[in-house]
This record gives sequence, C-alpha cells and structure tokens, in this order.
Amino acid sequence: MEELFEIKSISKSYGSFENNIKVTDNISFMINRRDIISISGPSGAGKSTLLNLLSGLEKIDEGEIIYNGKSYSTLDDESLSKLRLNEFGYVFQNFSLLPSMNVRDNIYLPSIIKSGSVDKGLFNELVERLGIDNRLHHLPDQLSGGEKQRVAIARALITSPSVIFADEPTGNLDSKNSDSVFELLFELVEKYKQTLIYVTHDPSKAMMASRKIILKDGKIVE
Ligand code: ADP
Repeated sequence: MEELFEIKSISKSYGSFENNIKVTDNISFMINRRDIISISGPSGAGKSTLLNLLSGLEKIDEGEIIYNGKSYSTLDDESLSKLRLNEFGYVFQNFSLLPSMNVRDNIYLPSIIKSGSVDKGLFNELVERLGIDNRLHHLPDQLSGGEKQRVAIARALITSPSVIFADEPTGNLDSKNSDSVFELLFELVEKYKQTLIYVTHDPSKAMMASRKIILKDGKIVE
C-alpha cells in the first residue's frame, strides 16, 4: 500500500487569546492511496475543520501535513493552490454551484481552470452515471437538492483528482437518494482508483468507509 498522507500531531484553534477553542487537538494518522476514510462524530466535534485542514483549505497552527512526500508548510500559497487544483476534488456541503452558469458549465469549470479543456468522454460518463444528462442546460436554481448534489459530485470528479474531499456529500438528501449517491460515489472512486475522504454525522454512512475516524472535541476517539 502506498502512503499518501502523513498527518503529524496537527492542531487548530479558533477564537481570541483569552477565549481560545482547540477545534483540532493533536491529531495524527496516515492515509494510504485508495483509502476510503470517513470522519464522523457529533456536531461541533471538528469534522469539517479536519477535512479543511487536510485539503489545504485552512492552515494548521501546529504539526505537519505531508502529502505525497511534501509538507504543506513548505508550499507557498500559489503552490498550494496548484496542488489543490491538480490533485484534489471537492464536494462542498452547500454544493457551491455558480448560480448564473448552467449545469454543464458548472461541471466544466474546474477543468477549464486547470487545463483549458474538458475530458468529454469522462464528462459524458459522469453525467450519464449520475443521471443528470438531461439537466445540462438547467441553472442550479431549477434543480432538486439531489440533482445539485450529483452535479457537485460530477464537478469534483471531472478533473480526475487523486483525492476527493467531501463534506456531508449527501447531507441534503432523503435516505433513499443518499444511499444511491453514496453507492455511486464509492463505485466511481473505485473505478478511477481515487482516495476518498468524507465527513458525515450519520453513523451508518461512516460505517461504509474502509477506515473510520471518529472525532470528539477535536480528538480522535476511535
Ligand atoms: P463539525 O464539522 O464536527 O460540526 P466544525 O469543524 O464545523 O465541527 O466546528 C468545530 C468547532 O469549531 C465549532 O465549535 C465551530 O463553531 C468552531 N469553528 C469552526 N470554524 C470556525 C471559524 N472559522 N471561526 C471560529 N470558530 C469556528
């Protein structure tokens, strides 16, 4: 197994000097390539913060995150942005679709930014498998929550990232839709040999991962 992430004693606090909350408290673990990792625990446990630190969206206060042999602390902002664009895909909790762009253009966007072109074969496969091929000219506002979720997943996968970070990827769906989106996400990640790290508050969704990280008060409890 190839080691992909080494997370060494990382901590992150929010707040002022007098009123400081350690949201990530001295966490260490490893992630291998092609792992499927769930991060679960109660609300406020620090799940989203940990995901944002791992994905380079936020900076750690202490410790070290090494991705593919490179410590984030050695990268300037531009190199970190490049790494994120080239290697990572994101499924945000609130989808973060651009309201004035139709579904097709929303999905195209990361690829256009990354390389100026889109892998049309992959695009066609993703929209077909995700069942949004008949929604390509709709605006996000004209979609159901489930459809928006599927668009967000297609957009995360279109650049063929090595790692997908997903924050409550089915948080807005009913349980039937949520199960089918999860199954499909797992299937695509397996097919494209990707690593998936996802946050969920739902224990049954957390159980689906090959490795489970459970947080409480910013610490790993299991
Ligand atoms: P979870 O995802 O487990 O619900 P979060 O990581 O979102 O937990 O948040 C953990 C704690 O950190 C919460 O108490 C939250 O209010 C606080 N927090 C998160 N982000 C910020 C921020 N940008 N500024 C201040 N406090 C924050």
